[in-house]
Amino acid sequence: TAETGSPYRVVLLGANGVGKTAFASIFAGAADSMDSDECELCGGEKTVTLLDTWDTESDDEWAQERCMHTGDAYLLLYSITDRASFLRASELRIILRHFRPAQHTPIILVGNKCDLVRRREVSVSEGRACAAVFDCKFIETSAAMQHNVWEAFHGIVRQLRLRRDSK
Ligand code: GDP
Repeated sequence: TAETGSPYRVVLLGANGVGKTAFASIFAGAADSMDSDECELCGGEKTVTLLDTWDTESDDEWAQERCMHTGDAYLLLYSITDRASFLRASELRIILRHFRPAQHTPIILVGNKCDLVRRREVSVSEGRACAAVFDCKFIETSAAMQHNVWEAFHGIVRQLRLRRDSK
């Protein structure tokens, strides 16, 4: 059944340096110390596997393709301090749409490093507008301050469950 079957695969996508590793290590650390109630909160025990396998600098197109195929849901990260990473997120969204044409593949656009207010290059409204164009949810986070990281994660799990329940 869906409950006991293979875990959901949530893939972290984004340019180098946006905070994918920082995100993944927060989840990895929490998963170790979590009791089953908290696990239930985040999708049920062992139902979510977070993949941080994307290397945008890689020339290995096949590996990139595989990444686009294997996810059940995607956290699409950019850094609010790096406009190039914001543009990269848009490109990745377009590539993703090509590989996952199904409307309901859950995606959340994540503007990370929102603690670095003085270095901001991408405004909140730009992020929100981009998410609206791409028809996905939007959230700003700080992996460094652990701000909104769980909200992003819960958001993606909620979408996965809605999709599962509507099947
Ligand atoms: P990746 O290449 O996407 O995996 O990015 P990393 O997780 O390795 O992060 C790149 C750098 O940004 C590291 O030095 C992190 O400590 C730092 N970093 C990640 N997230 C944040 C954040 O939310 N705020 C701040 N100030 N630094 C961050």
